[in-house]
Formats: sequence, C-alpha cells, structure tokens
Amino acid sequence: MARTFIGTFHPARIVFGAGTLAQTATEAARLGMTRPLVLSTPFQRADADRLAHQIGAAGVFAGAAMHTPTDVTAQAMAAYADCGADGVIALGGGSTIGLGKAIAYRNDAPQLVIATTYAGSEVTPILGQTENGVKTTVRAASILPETVIYDPELTVGLPVAMSVTSALNAMAHAVEGVYAQDKNPVASMMAVEGVRALRDALPGIVANPADLGSRSDALYGSWLCGTVLGAVGMALHHKLCHTLGGSFDLPHAETHSVMLPHTAAYNARAAQADMQPLADLFGGEIGTGLWDFARSLGAPMTLRDLGLEAADLDRAADLAAQNPYWNPQPVERGAIRDLLQRAWEGAPPVTPN
Ligand code: NAD
Repeated sequence: MARTFIGTFHPARIVFGAGTLAQTATEAARLGMTRPLVLSTPFQRADADRLAHQIGAAGVFAGAAMHTPTDVTAQAMAAYADCGADGVIALGGGSTIGLGKAIAYRNDAPQLVIATTYAGSEVTPILGQTENGVKTTVRAASILPETVIYDPELTVGLPVAMSVTSALNAMAHAVEGVYAQDKNPVASMMAVEGVRALRDALPGIVANPADLGSRSDALYGSWLCGTVLGAVGMALHHKLCHTLGGSFDLPHAETHSVMLPHTAAYNARAAQADMQPLADLFGGEIGTGLWDFARSLGAPMTLRDLGLEAADLDRAADLAAQNPYWNPQPVERGAIRDLLQRAWEGAPPVTPN
C-alpha cells in the first residue's frame, strides 16, 4: 500500500504501574519543581492533602471544577503566587488536569499529572475553558503536561458507573481517531490496541472493581486512547458531545457513552475499511457491537436519562448541522436528527444508506 501521512506525537514522560504514586517527589524534582502546588477537586481533597504532606508541597488548591471555569483558574493562580509555587501537580481526572493546564497556559508552569480517570486529557495539548457560560478550546505546547504518572491503585476507588462511562469516553477518542481526516498508521495502531485493552478490562472491573489487573489494563487503554486524541483531529462524535454538553449541560462522560454506538454506526459505511479492526473487536459490526457492549456493562443508554428534553432534539440537530465540519459520512440535518432521536430514546444504532 502506498502510504502518505504527516503525524505529530506529543512528547510526554509516562510513568506507569501499580505503586508509582511513590515516585511523585522524584518526578517533580526531575521537572525542577521544589515547591509544587497540588491540585484536586473538593471530592479528592483528602488524597491531595495526603500527597502534599508526603512530598512537602508548597500548598494545595482543591477547587477544580468541570469545564475549567476561568474564575476558578484565577483563584488557583492567586494560590500559586501566594505559596511561591514553581510547578503544579494535578491529582485527578479531566477537571483537575484542565486546571493544571490552564495555569501552565498562563505562566508556563511545569506540570506533573497523576491521572485517576480514563478521560485522557493528561496527554493532549488541548484546554477547554469556560467564561460566562461560553466554552472555548485552545491548543498550545505549554498546555501539554510534561510528565504523567499512571498508578492503577488510585483508580480502584473510581465507582463502577464512572469507570464504565469514563472508559467509553476514552474509546470514543480511538474510534474517531481511526477515521480522522489527518489519521496516521501509528495513531490507528494505538487506537485499536487502546480499545482492545479497555474492552478486555471493563467486564473485570464491573465484576470486581478492586481487580488491579483489570484496572491496569483500563488505564493502559485510556493512555493509548488519550494519545490518539492528542495526535489527530476528531469528528462528528466529539462535536455532537460538545454541543450536548455545552448547550444543554449534559454530563461529559455519560454523554460520550450514550452517543458512541450511534456515531460509530453513522460513520460505519463511509469509514468501513478504517473501522474494520475495531468492528472485529465487537463481533463484526461496530455500532451494534458497541451498543451491546455498553448495555452489558450497565452504561446509561439514553439521552433522556441524562436529562435532555425531547423538545431540545430539534435545536441540537440544528446546532450540529449548522456548523459544518469534516466527517467521513456527510453531516446531514435529517440523519443527525434521526440519530439523536434514537440516542434519546435508547433505540439501537443505525447506519444510514
Ligand atoms: P472529572 O475530572 O470531572 O471527575 C469527576 C469526579 O470524579 C470528580 O469529583 C473527581 O474528583 C472524581 N474522581 C476522579 N478520579 C477518581 C477516582 N479515582 N476515585 C474516585 N473519584 C474520582 O471527570 P473526567 O471525566 O475525568 O473529566 C471530565 C472533564 O475533562 C471535562 O470537563 C472534559 O471536557 C475534560 N476533558 C478534556 C480533555 C482534553 O484533552 N482537554 C480530554 C478529556 C476530557
């Protein structure tokens, strides 16, 4: 096959394995931090306090919130200055990692991330921020965290429902990665391996959330899928989820979970060759395969259950179709309205002709 591609892979140091949390001080020092500020959400504050105490951090800011509101970033910047910090350690999922990125975007602070969900933000140079309810996305080299610690022991307490939706969120990066306009063979290889690892890990996590082998496989898969998100562009699925999250305030990981089988089915014919290795992981048909898989794990299956009103479906379809973007299958308002209807009521996914 005659191949042509341009690929950008972002450099990050990855420290992976059970017990690697113990390497935090060494990794922070490696980045030149002598007075790190530890970041977390209010929910993970006790973990952040414990870590800060263990490594002798300069302080803790435990106010991270979903969608990186700029007023929270301003408070964190003030805390950073007040304690004379010289770097950030983000302990948590996409919300906390987003705050660390927002700080680094403003002052180029070195970032060490200790990732505790499967969302994948820790390996992308992308930051979504919210100001006055409007979400904007920026990309910059300073946003990419320099080092990531993946310690599966920290994910044992991630509730099963969140583990499932977070992992399906990760899979969505990989599914869109294989048919990206700027796809490349290495990103596609990572995508397939990431989805395979998550597919194998999730039933084990549902059966026994404390199973460290499954937790390790899931975190490995989420690293691969996050790397794909950072390497190539996303299409219909991510745009639809951003519309539903941004304009209708639907929850992030759950929305990805509900939408993924439907968007995968939508693109299954147009991107058939690219998606075949993924379809093979789910019995040959990507849309229904993912739908059955999600259902077997107890994932949310309807936008209705996430709080979307039937009356919002027309506006959601308008928003998605108004702003055309590249997608393997053309984005047509009528077909998108059908897709949203199915996702809203929990009907099986359909591939348009
Ligand atoms: P989150 O970070 O909002 O976490 C949800 C809740 O779970 C929080 O209360 C958190 O403290 C808690 N939590 C996290 N890990 C836990 C653990 N191991 N055990 C128990 N509780 C835990 O959720 P998320 O899905 O990781 O992140 C979503 C956010 O990340 C969204 O704002 C999304 O836009 C953003 N995101 C950004 C990118 C990017 O590349 N910029 C990629 C993916 C997601």
